[in-house]
Amino acid sequence: MISRSPDIEIARPDAPEQARAGASFESLREAELKYRSIFENAIHGIYQSVNEGRFVNVNPALARMLGYDSPADMIACCADIARHYYVQTDGREAFLALITERGLLQGYEVQVRRKDGVAIWTRENVYAVRDAHGQLLYYEGSVEDITAHKQAEVALRESEERYRDLFENANDIIYTADLAGNYTSVNKVGEAVTGYSRAELCRLNFTHLVAPEHLARTHEMLAHKFTGQETTTVYELEIVAKDGRRVSLEISTRLLFAAGQPVGVQGIARDITERKQVEERLRQHALADALTGLPNRLLFTDHLKLAVEQARRQPAQRFAVLFLDLDRFKMINDSLGHGVGDQLLIAIARQLESCLRASDTVARLGGDEFAILLNDISDFDDAIRVAERVLHELKQPFKLAGHEVFTSASIGIALSNNRYQAAADVLRDADTAMYRAKAEGKARYEVFDMVMHARVVALLQLENDLRRAIEREEFSIYYQPIVALADGRITGFEALVRWPHPERGLVRPAEFIPVAEETGLIVPLGRWVLRAACAQMRLWQAISPAHARLKLNVNLSGRQFTQTDLCGHIEHTLAVTNFEPHCLQLEITESVVMENAQTIVPMLARLRALGVELAIDDFGTGYSSLSYLRRFPIQTLKIDRSFISGGAEEDAEIVRTIVLLARNMGKDVVAEGIETPAQLAQLRALDCAYGQGYLFSAPQDAAATERMLRHALDRDLRMLPASDECVA
Ligand code: C2E
Ligand code: CA
Ligand code: CA
Repeated sequence: MISRSPDIEIARPDAPEQARAGASFESLREAELKYRSIFENAIHGIYQSVNEGRFVNVNPALARMLGYDSPADMIACCADIARHYYVQTDGREAFLALITERGLLQGYEVQVRRKDGVAIWTRENVYAVRDAHGQLLYYEGSVEDITAHKQAEVALRESEERYRDLFENANDIIYTADLAGNYTSVNKVGEAVTGYSRAELCRLNFTHLVAPEHLARTHEMLAHKFTGQETTTVYELEIVAKDGRRVSLEISTRLLFAAGQPVGVQGIARDITERKQVEERLRQHALADALTGLPNRLLFTDHLKLAVEQARRQPAQRFAVLFLDLDRFKMINDSLGHGVGDQLLIAIARQLESCLRASDTVARLGGDEFAILLNDISDFDDAIRVAERVLHELKQPFKLAGHEVFTSASIGIALSNNRYQAAADVLRDADTAMYRAKAEGKARYEVFDMVMHARVVALLQLENDLRRAIEREEFSIYYQPIVALADGRITGFEALVRWPHPERGLVRPAEFIPVAEETGLIVPLGRWVLRAACAQMRLWQAISPAHARLKLNVNLSGRQFTQTDLCGHIEHTLAVTNFEPHCLQLEITESVVMENAQTIVPMLARLRALGVELAIDDFGTGYSSLSYLRRFPIQTLKIDRSFISGGAEEDAEIVRTIVLLARNMGKDVVAEGIETPAQLAQLRALDCAYGQGYLFSAPQDAAATERMLRHALDRDLRMLPASDECVA
């Protein structure tokens, strides 16, 4: 239904003047029906409102748009347009002002309220309908809901603002450029990083910024990247800022398209200069020796690797490696302090550099070891001449911190040959030759030769065999009794490892212990010895009460003290073998204790706390003083065999002194290597309490030892085959 106001009628079918013309009445009616139909069915809202601020007519579409049940509902509820319809309080006034002024409003956008109070955006076309006298009859408007459109517009604006914000406040440079590489826009960061203003940048082509040496590569890369399907690309670049600074950038660009055609690029560039610098520092750090600034082992090996490869391709390209180790550096360090030691190393580094050509490499491998790679030498004599020059230069005193420091070096030389496959091989041979130079009296050079090569090969073979033997536990333990010299009673046994080699027969420890120590294999080997010997002794102690207090001596090498938790491991072994700690005595050589006193003493104290006894082995061969020994928690001194077998008068004097002082300090003394009754008699005369040696028994395997033990049991464990005569 069309609601009508009684005052204003669009058509007046009952007007008396029209009743006379039936035909025109009919046509009018038709027109009105048509009009109503449009009004009723329009998708846009349509209204008629009067100046007083009321709706007189609204169509269903408008009622629906504004959430009213019907046009009548809307006319009734929205009785005061100024209050009910407009969202802005002055909405109606503004509308009236405009329409009065213009008579017609087109695309008038205004926010109005729905029945439920929700505001929507509308766009209206309105005109003022007047009668023949120009008197305003009413306003007629068509209304469109543009809320969705408005929201999209707001969203777009916000997103644009966000982009602006990002663009301006980003930490990275954001720019656009045309396809020729001319910048078209740049953000603030771009100014800060490059030092150019935006206006300047927008007059620049990227080729003006890119570091000259990167230009060709950049062109090539970009050409390559942007062909084909790829539309985005990431790369690193160095540019030159306005003030000449180098700036490293990480750039990510993508092609911009218009109508399917690429028109330019947009890029984000991050300043990674600092990161690059850190990376470079790290690289330097990884390849340089911090103290001297020389290349370190890693870099040296790299260079040497190249030399080896080149020599393999072209044998005429010869090289040589000089392995240099300072003589007595430890002494300088210990006597003059580490500061002077460091200065000496630096001075030597500079000296070595001055002896070489630019194409050679001198490196510090660590400690007091240096290496020199002589590249592309015409003659091996060149290498020897360099070695001689270096030896000569190093002989001159260095003036360091007010000291005149004298030093010398031993040099091993390895010359290129077609055997060399790897850098490590060359270094190893030079190292071997260096050891030879040391052995030959130091302050000299030796060239690695075939004899040394044979020795190295044999040693490598030994190491391999040893490794396998340890895996398979192919060792056995021999036992040598330790005897109380006064009455010949067996007080215990020293465990001595043997290696029954499948081809070489029984290998003596003197041959393989040093290799085991050098390679670290001594650690698993030592563990095995301790465990096997403890388990064996535990069985023997159980034979009879007379055996219960038998002691076990086990040798520990210096290298074993570098193993983590040696003490914990020993404690564990004692526990699993159920071996009484007081019955275990560990033998450590004098030099090991003296050279590593600081680290070893706490470990010895811990072993002592467990109840384990400690002995100094080979006593007299090192340089420890007896008074110094007081500080160590040891129970026993084992006098080295050389003092017993020597027979010289002063040896006897030394033995007498050791025995005397040891007794004063409450320590036991064991004489090693007693071979003759005469030696035994003398030791007895000197009041030496214990001894071991071939006179009593050579080391024997477990079965023979057990037989001996059972046999000696008949004689209260006494075993002095020839002693009675010699004592007499
Ligand atoms: P060491 O600890 O001084 O052992 C004593 C060495 O003297 C043993 O040599 C022994 O057989 C030998 N010997 C004993 N009595 C006499 C004698 O009257 N005359 C002579 N000429 N020699 C005698 P061995 O068994 O060849 O061991 C040599 C070295 O190897 C040992 O010297 C010790 O330092 C080391 N060693 C042996 N077994 C082990 C082990 O299990 N671990 C470690 N770290 N070292 C071991
Ligand atoms: Ca020993
Ligand atoms: Ca010894």
